[in-house]
Amino acid sequence: MTQQIGELNPPLRLMLTPGPSSMDPRVYRALATPLVGHLDPWFRGSMDETQILLRQIFQTESRITLPLSASGSGGIEAAVVNVLEEGDEAIVAVNGVFSERMYEIGSRASSKVTRVEAPYGKPVDPEDVRRAGKGRKIKMVGLAHGETSTGVLTKIDGFRKVADELGALLVVDTVASLAALPLHVDRERIDVCFSGSQKAISAPPGMSPITVSSAAEEVFRQRKTKVQSWYFDLTTAMNYWGKDRLYHHTPPISLIFALREAMRLVMEEGLEARWERHRVNQLALIAGLEAMGLKLLVEKTADRLPTVTAVMIPSGIDDGKLRNQLLDEFNIEIAGGFGALKGKIWRVGLMGYCSQMTNVLLFLAALEKCLIDQGFRVGSGAGVGAAVKSYTHAETAAAVSR
Ligand SMILES: *Cc1c(COP(=O)(O)O)cnc(C)c1O
Repeated sequence: MTQQIGELNPPLRLMLTPGPSSMDPRVYRALATPLVGHLDPWFRGSMDETQILLRQIFQTESRITLPLSASGSGGIEAAVVNVLEEGDEAIVAVNGVFSERMYEIGSRASSKVTRVEAPYGKPVDPEDVRRAGKGRKIKMVGLAHGETSTGVLTKIDGFRKVADELGALLVVDTVASLAALPLHVDRERIDVCFSGSQKAISAPPGMSPITVSSAAEEVFRQRKTKVQSWYFDLTTAMNYWGKDRLYHHTPPISLIFALREAMRLVMEEGLEARWERHRVNQLALIAGLEAMGLKLLVEKTADRLPTVTAVMIPSGIDDGKLRNQLLDEFNIEIAGGFGALKGKIWRVGLMGYCSQMTNVLLFLAALEKCLIDQGFRVGSGAGVGAAVKSYTHAETAAAVSR
């Protein structure tokens, strides 16, 4: 039997999820440019430009700065397996699914990883990490800057202080925060910092930008054993991304082009303007949600991650039905909760190209329609009205008009 396969024609969705985010048309164009070889002398220039942009976005001058051929989880894996050797001790601050993943990867690397937890919806207290590490030889302290599963932001400085006291390297997952909120890798002295291409950078999924401090590079050099992962050994990956440009593996060249263009757009906008855009759009979203009588999972304003807003699902509302209606009637995708939070929260992403006033207003109107269809009482137009008010408030209006 020969089955006829039709032309590929996906629906045009607005992805208000915690990744991937929708992309600027210029990034699609970069993705469709002609392929060149990964060892082509011309491509070297493109690699240089990609690394220049990566350093600008990470705010670092580190030599080891490259896009791994992997999704964000590959970044976690690379960071952890390059730092830890068998028997090493580490502490991971766990407050959700992604920080849990760092703990899990560390445990598989035959190291002794301790988890220090916070309830979902809150950041881990660095004091708890200090207590857990007291009198022990800790090589790594790890955390997620933005915990996407709960929409929680963790401030890095307290963990840097504790890592200094313990003599440990600081490893930070910035998959959900890079290019969306203030981050200065060198100034904040993050030793290994990684991200994902498909979140606030708004490039296609499949690449994980990573950068390594000179202190961490020295620790890599003093390893007694080889990194157990050949693919993610950053020292050998630098044979390709360093000045020699020697073959290591064939990278996804088209994805590098798209990432380069997406990062060029980040720098064209300016990091500070971009951080402000994410802040202002989330404030308007929250104003709208609260005016509709909805509650947020993260109570403290300072703990809220600007890229992902976790909304409590009101009782009596069918999670699956509502999200399907958003897709079918409005072409809008939002995410549900993981694990214990499944059926309890929605996660609304405003990342990179998606963080726009038009999207906030459209989403609030669409959500209102879906809630009313399920019998939820909302004052008509309350959400959109409150968001408009938030945007026209003097302080935010200036940022939006930029
Ligand atoms: C999305 C995400 C990851 C995982 O990235 P993948 O590209 O799905 O592998 C890791 N950490 C955080 C904080 C994330 O948001």
